[in-house]
Amino acid sequence: MTPDELEKWINQLIAEDTLYKFYKSREWRQLSGAVMKENNYECQQCKERGFHTPARSVHHVQWVRKHPRLALSRTYEYQGMIYNNLIPLCENCHNKEHEKGRGIGKRKKSGFTNEERW
Ligand SMILES: [Zn+2]
Ligand SMILES: [Zn+2]
Repeated sequence: MTPDELEKWINQLIAEDTLYKFYKSREWRQLSGAVMKENNYECQQCKERGFHTPARSVHHVQWVRKHPRLALSRTYEYQGMIYNNLIPLCENCHNKEHEKGRGIGKRKKSGFTNEERW
C-alpha cells in the first residue's frame, strides 16, 4: 500500500466512523506485533521510570486521525530528527497519553475507550 492509498483508506474509515477496521487489519497487526516483540512486550513509559509492566497496545505518537500517512510507519521525522512513532504502552500510560491531548478514542459513560486496544 502506498502512503497515498493508506491516507485515502484511513480517511474513508474516519468518515465512516469505522477506524477500528484499521486496527483489525493484517498490516497493523503484523506491524504492532513486531513492535511489541522488539520491546519485549513491555510498556515503554513504565520502563523509563524503572517499572516493568506488560504492554497492552501500541500507541501512535503521531495520531492516526491527524496523520493517516504515518499509521503504518515505525518512525516519523520532526525538524530533521527521526523519532519512534509506535510505542508499546500499558493501559494506564496509554490512557494518559490520550487524555493529555484528546487524540483518538472517545469518552463514554463507562470511561475511556481506546481504539488502539487490541
Ligand atoms: Zn505504563
Ligand atoms: Zn495511543
